[in-house]
Amino acid sequence: MLKKPFITKEKAEEIIRVIPTPFHIYDEKGIRENARRLKEAFAWNKGFKEYFAVKATPTPAILKILREEGCGTDCSSYAELLMSQKCGFKNPEIMFSSNDTPEEEFRFANEIGAIINLDDITHIDMLQKVCGIPETICCRYNPGGTFSVSTDIMDNPGDAKYGMTRSQIREAFLRLKELGAKNFGIHSFLASNTVSNEYYPKLARILFRLAKELKEETGVNITFINLSGGIGIPYTPDKEPNDIMVIGQGVKKAFEEILVPAGMGDVSIFTELGRFMLAPYGHLVTRAIHEKHIHKEYIGVDACAANLMRPAMYGAYHHITVLGKENAPCDHVYDVTGSLCENNDKFAIDRSLPEIDMGDILVIHDTGAHGFAMGYNYNGRLRSAEILLREDGSFTEIRRAETVDDYFATLEGFWDII
Ligand SMILES: *Cc1c(COP(=O)(O)O)cnc(C)c1O
Repeated sequence: MLKKPFITKEKAEEIIRVIPTPFHIYDEKGIRENARRLKEAFAWNKGFKEYFAVKATPTPAILKILREEGCGTDCSSYAELLMSQKCGFKNPEIMFSSNDTPEEEFRFANEIGAIINLDDITHIDMLQKVCGIPETICCRYNPGGTFSVSTDIMDNPGDAKYGMTRSQIREAFLRLKELGAKNFGIHSFLASNTVSNEYYPKLARILFRLAKELKEETGVNITFINLSGGIGIPYTPDKEPNDIMVIGQGVKKAFEEILVPAGMGDVSIFTELGRFMLAPYGHLVTRAIHEKHIHKEYIGVDACAANLMRPAMYGAYHHITVLGKENAPCDHVYDVTGSLCENNDKFAIDRSLPEIDMGDILVIHDTGAHGFAMGYNYNGRLRSAEILLREDGSFTEIRRAETVDDYFATLEGFWDII
C-alpha cells in the first residue's frame, strides 16, 4: 500500500512558520473516522466499548476526541488515571489494567470508580486491604505457551510477566466472589502489533471458552470480556492493513458459537486498543539540517530518538516521505539520523529515498501511538510540541514543546547544594 502523508508541503510550511520543527501532528479526521469504523464493526454487541490505551498517546485533546466518539480510557498508572479524570472520563469509562501495582494506585482507581483489572492473584489481598473489593472486578489471564494463528507464532505468552494461570484465575474468581464481587470480567493480551484479521477472533475463542468454563466452575456472573490491545498497523508499505469489519465479524462468529449457546449472549465486549486507534494518524515532522558523506551517506534531521524511540528501541521501521518529493524517484540510499550520542539514533538505515536537500521537510509516518509518548530526555534533548490538524484543515497546538526550564524544573532548589 502506498503510504501517503496526511499533510502537504504547503500545510507543513504554514505550520512551521508558527511552530518550529520537530513536532508531532495528528489527523483529527482520520482518528474520528477510524473510531467510528471500530464502533460499527462491533455494533452487534450491545455493551461494546473501546477503552483507549492512554499510554499510546497521553494527550488531553486526543483523549477528548476519542471520548466524543464514545471511547473510555485504559490506564495503568496514577498519572494516566488522573489525566482521564481531568479529561472528564467517569465511572465506568475508565479501565485500570495495571501490573506490579502500588497500593495507592488501587486506592485512587477505586476512588474514581475505574474498573480494576487484577494482574495477579496476590493482588486480591492488597486490594481488599487498601479499599475493599468492588462489585465489578476483572482478572487478567495468561495461558502460557506460544500464541499462534495457523502455523505462525505471533507471540510468546509463556514468557510474558502478565496475568494469571488457568488454575489461579479460577481460584481468584472464587475468592473475589466470597469477598463480595458481583460482576466479573476476563482480560487477556496475547500478541502485540498483529497485522492479521485472525488475532482477535482467535483470542476471543480462547476467552469465550474460558468464560463459559469459569461460569460453570465458579457460578460467577461474567458481564464482560476485554480483548485488550494488540491489533496492529502496517508500518511497512508492503503490508495490507487489518480490516476491522472482518475482525468484528470474526469475533461475532465466535460469540455466537460459544457464548450464545451457553446462555451468555448478554456479555459485553471491551477493547483496549492503542496503536490501532492512533498510530497511522500521527506524523513526526522534521527538517534535514545536515548531510554527511563518510563510509555511508547520512542525513541529519532536527528530531532524534527522544522524539520517537521505536526505531532505536525495537529496530522498528517507520516510513519516511520527503514533502514535495512524493513522486520523485527513490534513487538515493541514506541513513537518516538524529543527534543523540548513540549510534542507534537512526530513523532509517539504508533507506532508498529521493535526493534530500538541506531544509527539506521529512514526514516520519505512523507515530500517532507509542511515539511522542515514549519520549525521553537523554543528552538533554527536549520533547517536541504536539499539533492537531483539524477536520477543516486548520491546526491547533495541543501540547507545547519542552523548554530547558522544564528540563531543569526538578533541580529547582538543588543548584547550590554542593
Ligand atoms: C499497551 C497496552 C494496550 C494497548 O496496546 P496496543 O498494542 O497499543 O493496542 C492495551 N492494554 C494494555 C493492558 C496494555 O498494556
